[in-house]
Amino acid sequence: MPSSPRYWGTDDGEGNVTAADPEIRVELRSDTKTRPSPGMRAAMAAAEVGDEQAGEDPNVRALCERVADLLGKESALFLPSGTMCNAIAVAVMCRPGDEIVADVRSHLFNTEAAGAAALAGAQIRTVDGDRGRFTAGDLLSALRGRKRNAPRSRLVAVEQTVNRGGGAIWPLDRLQDVASCAHVNGLFVHMDGARLLNAVVASGIAAKDFAAPCDAIWLDLSKGLGCPVGAVLAGSRDFVEEAWRWKHRLGGAMRQAGILAAAGLYALDHNVERLAEDHANAKRLARALRAIGGLKLDAAEPETNIVFFDVAGTSLDAAAFSARLRERGVAIGAETATRLRAVTHLDVDASAIDAAASAIGWVAGAGNSNQEERP
Ligand SMILES: *Cc1c(COP(=O)(O)O)cnc(C)c1O
Repeated sequence: MPSSPRYWGTDDGEGNVTAADPEIRVELRSDTKTRPSPGMRAAMAAAEVGDEQAGEDPNVRALCERVADLLGKESALFLPSGTMCNAIAVAVMCRPGDEIVADVRSHLFNTEAAGAAALAGAQIRTVDGDRGRFTAGDLLSALRGRKRNAPRSRLVAVEQTVNRGGGAIWPLDRLQDVASCAHVNGLFVHMDGARLLNAVVASGIAAKDFAAPCDAIWLDLSKGLGCPVGAVLAGSRDFVEEAWRWKHRLGGAMRQAGILAAAGLYALDHNVERLAEDHANAKRLARALRAIGGLKLDAAEPETNIVFFDVAGTSLDAAAFSARLRERGVAIGAETATRLRAVTHLDVDASAIDAAASAIGWVAGAGNSNQEERP
């Protein structure tokens, strides 16, 4: 029987959207769930605005200058999302047939709907680093050489911090090694710095120092910084000029975007140092979970604000575990069949962490006792 016509892929992705659930008491699915605070909303409401794409919005200009300065780059560009930063950086630096080296866990490779391939015609060659942090040796072994029949190695992409690496921080010397290996071999270096400022606060290393080895770098405003929308991509003046063309091409050029940029400026003033609280809360959660039978955590302490835990030692799979937690008002997403990911952020305090830990303990215990009751 012929089926009715469908757009390509309309059967995919239907499970992605979940309605807002008023019953959630502790939201740990992501630091993207943060909502603009009253102070941030006041800054947004008071923002002077202009036509962003004509360069006339004072808050967007101020935000771009501020981030370029923070990262030690010549210029910066305000964009609606981190995904668009990655897409544009790749499109500026790669041509069809080029190859990008990135960790197998990377957001670029896994969760951008294949933007590098679809928009830039570039393919990704993955390496498997230590929680996402690979070495210059790993990069060297992924390079193609000059064979005519091989893809052209063009770009290496690193993620700071590594989301699926449990918020692991690229050590500065490792990053410098990988970047100089890339540059010697004619590759660009791109940093997906969605959580760069988490790395900065946790390590005490300046954002400029992490940015120096990178040709392009961006940071997200809508994660732990608590803004509703926005990311800023930085690099050389030439790079940003080319990036502007892609911003227009993709429909990312905006109008009175100063309302959003004002939130970004507010976040840079008020929400950076406090990321340390999120990191302390991630450690607090990890400590509590280590004491719960059936759960397995990474050996290392969480370095920033992300905690993965494995529930294979309980009788529940991750989806069922997540659903049971949700019934108890705690939202934590299943990442794989057995792993859940909890992310701390500015809307979760230590007492909420303790409430989440006790719900997790209850679900793990209930799961185990169900198992025992089975005939
Ligand atoms: C969230 C995230 C992105 C994408 O950012 P959006 O602003 O959600 O588009 C890219 N990379 C990493 C590592 C992320 O965590």
